[in-house]
Order: sequence, then structure tokens, then C-alpha cells
Amino acid sequence: MGRFLSVFDFDDTLAVSHGYIEVKKPDGTVKRYTSEEYVHYSPVSGDALHFSHLNDLHNPRLVTRVWGEFVSDVSHPDRDVVILTSRPRGASSSIRKLLHHMGVPVHMVEVMAIESGRPQDKARRIEEKILTGKYKQVRFIDDNHRNVEAVRELLDAHEIVSASVHLPHSELTVENLSEVCGEHFPSDEWAECVFLVP
Ligand SMILES: [Mg+2]
Repeated sequence: MGRFLSVFDFDDTLAVSHGYIEVKKPDGTVKRYTSEEYVHYSPVSGDALHFSHLNDLHNPRLVTRVWGEFVSDVSHPDRDVVILTSRPRGASSSIRKLLHHMGVPVHMVEVMAIESGRPQDKARRIEEKILTGKYKQVRFIDDNHRNVEAVRELLDAHEIVSASVHLPHSELTVENLSEVCGEHFPSDEWAECVFLVP
């Protein structure tokens, strides 16, 4: 019986924070992109990219429902749990600190910071896992449609059984917010479906 691989994106899936990527243009102007905006950024010759602002977590707030699923998967003995983020490698220790702070056994979670916003790069990392032959089921949770599509294609190609791919944002409609977020639900905005990490 194969194991279950559970892969979670970090930004806007497990947590919301204020990190950004800085792009310095040849004329000296500087633009800032959130990790979500950066997915749609097309490199232009002469642009200088700075990822260092994504090494740290600024004012992280957990997306409670997805975080709950994450914690549940971590405690499941047959599941391997990965956080797969486009953030730079330096962000791994910040994310581990957050896990530790929240009481999650850090050694039970593999944090992969791949320093790339390309959906194919995320899919490739999951493929490396699949090729070990350990997994029969994969669950991938990401707020970005392009990442989800890339991984869905990959799972189809490998004929992974019972693969489930979720889009947290599509689930978090205004109608079901209070049900999903319970007492942590203070308003109609999905982004409020979080609680502050002290
Ligand atoms: Mg994301």
C-alpha cells in the first residue's frame, strides 16, 4: 500500500503575510510584487530581481481551515507532508519557526523553498517525489490556478490514483465562510478567515 503525499503551498494557502519581490528596472524605478502578482510577471531584459524580502514572514496570519487540514495531515501516520513554496531558500527557516511557534512537529514537515514562481517547477518537485515510487495518492493544495493545473496534468500523466487537488479560495465563498472559519470569522472577506499569530 503506497503512502499519501500531502503538498501545501504556503502564501495565501496556509498563511497570509506581507512579503514581496522587488524588481529594479534599468531606469532605476522599483516595482514590488506580492508572490501572487509575481506569478504573472514576465522577465524583461535588464530587470534585477530581489527576493530577500521574502526570506522573513511579515505579520503572518493563518488561513484557519487550510491550516487545520495541514495539522491533521501532519498527525496522520501514513501521510508525508510537504510545504512547497516559491519563496527563496532563506524562507525555509522562517516557515519552520512559524511551525514551531504553532506547536507543529517541525521534523514531520518537509519545507521546500524553490525560489521560483513557475508552475512547472512546482510540478517538477512533486514529480521527483512520485518517481521514488512511495506514493499512490497525492493531495496538492494551492491558491494559484496555474500551479494547480500544472500539478493536475502531472498527476494525470503518472496515473496517480485518487489524486485530489483543491483550490482553497474557490471553496471559501462568502456563503460558506462562517461555516468554514467558525469563530475566527469576523467579516465577509475571505482574508479575514485567519487569526493573528502573536
Ligand atoms: Mg500561493
